[in-house]
Amino acid sequence: MTARIIDGKAFAATLRQRVGAAVAGLKADHGLTPGLAVVLVGEDPASEIYVRNKGLQTVEAGMASFEYKLPATTSEAELLALVGQLNADAGVHGILVQLPLPKHISEAAVINAIDPDKDVDGFHVINAGRLATGQPALVPCTPYGCLLLLKDALGDLAGKSAVVIGRSNIVGKPMAQLLLAESCTVTVAHSKTRDLPAVVAGADIVVAAVGRPRMVTGDWIKPGAAVIDVGINRIPAPEKGEGATRVVGDVDFASAAAVAGAITPVPGGVGPMTIACLLRNTVVAACRQAGLADPAGL
Ligand code: NDP
Repeated sequence: MTARIIDGKAFAATLRQRVGAAVAGLKADHGLTPGLAVVLVGEDPASEIYVRNKGLQTVEAGMASFEYKLPATTSEAELLALVGQLNADAGVHGILVQLPLPKHISEAAVINAIDPDKDVDGFHVINAGRLATGQPALVPCTPYGCLLLLKDALGDLAGKSAVVIGRSNIVGKPMAQLLLAESCTVTVAHSKTRDLPAVVAGADIVVAAVGRPRMVTGDWIKPGAAVIDVGINRIPAPEKGEGATRVVGDVDFASAAAVAGAITPVPGGVGPMTIACLLRNTVVAACRQAGLADPAGL
């Protein structure tokens, strides 16, 4: 068997189009332009690329983009003051503080200072609690993107057995909550899980969010299962020249694709969904702040 490839790049492009259409409707019908503020502290090169792409795609979708680049020496108090200013700004509907932050700043303190209704990353404890208790929440972008891909590939997920490998607050835990809300039977695996291959072997859905290159191999996977690979791991690629690198997932794509029913590639699977879902969250946040219903089709 050869798995169907779940094309996250194409799905993200259609989601961005739907976001763009919703934004055009909000402008025309309500004079509302959703605005996203992205705050970057310090000069991490990967973060700079993410922030630039977020800004570009926000503008492409017709929204307002506000970028704040602060020096690595910024104090926690200064960052909290900026968050407070953005919380109070009616033109800003979504606030994202790019992680990681410099060591002298508490990420938890900063995330929890963001107005939960503007917390488009969905990391605030209020949004984690809303998700866990089934209330309307802003949901972390990467797991939400995984869910959209799964629903598109499989339709109704109710009753399916799902294994999420990884229990971080930004991917694994919210992923498990989302699958539970879809009435999957969910197992969350982590570094202390015993006999992980046997745990994975029973799953109709496998979501790998581990950070270990190609850890999940085809012999672990139930024939026909759907495999979502969240991992982004940079490994040496001597075939591309000395010192060259390339990105691989947490799943060994070649062996897994021979067994799975559907699988996301890396790159081109989950990765492009994250920013598309961030744009979606910003539009949803803007609608809720304006007292409007969530836009249809998002
Ligand atoms: P974390 O490092 O925060 O969490 C990794 C999780 O994997 C932990 O829960 C850890 O368990 C578990 N784990 C580690 N080793 C093993 C093992 N040998 N067996 C089973 N479980 C293990 O990572 P993130 O959740 O932030 O990210 C996971 C991956 O997803 C990374 O590759 C990251 O780059 C990628 N990512 C991709 C995004 C995208 O846009 N596509 C966005 C965010 C992340 P324990 O809790 O016991 O330590």
